[in-house]
Amino acid sequence: MTHSEHAQRRCLASEHLAERKADALVITSLANVRYLTGFTGSNGLVLLLRDRALLFTDPRYGLQAAGETDCKVHVERGPLNLAAAALLRRKAIRRIGYEKGNLSHNSYLALDDRLPVSARLIPVEGLVENLRMVKSPAEMALIRRSVLTNSEAFSQTIPLVRPGVTELDLAAELEFRMRRLGAEKPSFESIVAFGPRSALPHASPTANRLTAGSLVLIDMGAFQDGYASDMTRMAYLGRPSARIRRLYRAVLEAQLAALAVVREGVTAETVDRAARRALARYDLERAFVHSTGHGLGLEIHEMPKLGRKDKTRLQAGMAVTIEPGVYLQELGGIRIEDTVAVTRDGCEILTPTSKELVVI
Ligand code: ZN
Ligand code: ZN
Repeated sequence: MTHSEHAQRRCLASEHLAERKADALVITSLANVRYLTGFTGSNGLVLLLRDRALLFTDPRYGLQAAGETDCKVHVERGPLNLAAAALLRRKAIRRIGYEKGNLSHNSYLALDDRLPVSARLIPVEGLVENLRMVKSPAEMALIRRSVLTNSEAFSQTIPLVRPGVTELDLAAELEFRMRRLGAEKPSFESIVAFGPRSALPHASPTANRLTAGSLVLIDMGAFQDGYASDMTRMAYLGRPSARIRRLYRAVLEAQLAALAVVREGVTAETVDRAARRALARYDLERAFVHSTGHGLGLEIHEMPKLGRKDKTRLQAGMAVTIEPGVYLQELGGIRIEDTVAVTRDGCEILTPTSKELVVI
């Protein structure tokens, strides 16, 4: 990512302050801080003003910040929001936005306490997140690479799916391999679930051992150079019954139906509806208990959400997941998930891994 790309983002973000009736925005979301400055440290705050932006961090990150960003850096010893408040006070800035979904109540009170009585704190939501929805070519290239790493880690781990292996074993192997391939960490806690446990959409891996006649659900993602990937694939140990095959076919049809409607201009809810309709043909719509997908980028879950009532129109350059699933108590769950790039006339499926049920 070039410095000028970050500078452009800061300019663009500043231009959106007016519509929020704010003269400044205190940005505390670390993903937003990284997006606007390139700074990757764990303690950072961006004070966005109408005509410029300042990055605040602490002395542990002074050198790192100087190397990572072209934004002006203030190295502060105390709490960053108080340093920002002091600057706002000095400049007599009155209408001050804050990220209401991110600033803790304590930090809000501390900030409020340091500002003059005439200043007003304005809750702001989604200003930077809206900009982050559409990825630049440089960002999409990073997502693409993260997706490839993730799929390669999956391919390397599949031969280890055999009787007696535990969910924890496989999760550890997936994460070891993605790191060896260049990822800095998983983009979320890897989900490996055998048999009935696959009916829990967000199962944590356990010491549960794989036995014949079990579904294996693997939902995994990598963070590479800060950008997320996300994929779910299914395996089966043994000969899948007709019922399992039918369920698998239903989910695959739902996933393909959703993929088929993704393109610029379509609303998120239209994509979600396509998946639900396909499942309804199998009388399985009630077994689909989450939304069809989500945006991803610097965070594993970003806007847009591809859910039931989401009116957001897809735009070329968005990176989203398409991941319908069905979950049946006792039997298990099936989910198929790809990471895709929205284009003007459709989408590009970035995930290269086959969607066939892996029968072992
Ligand atoms: Zn996933
Ligand atoms: Zn996902």
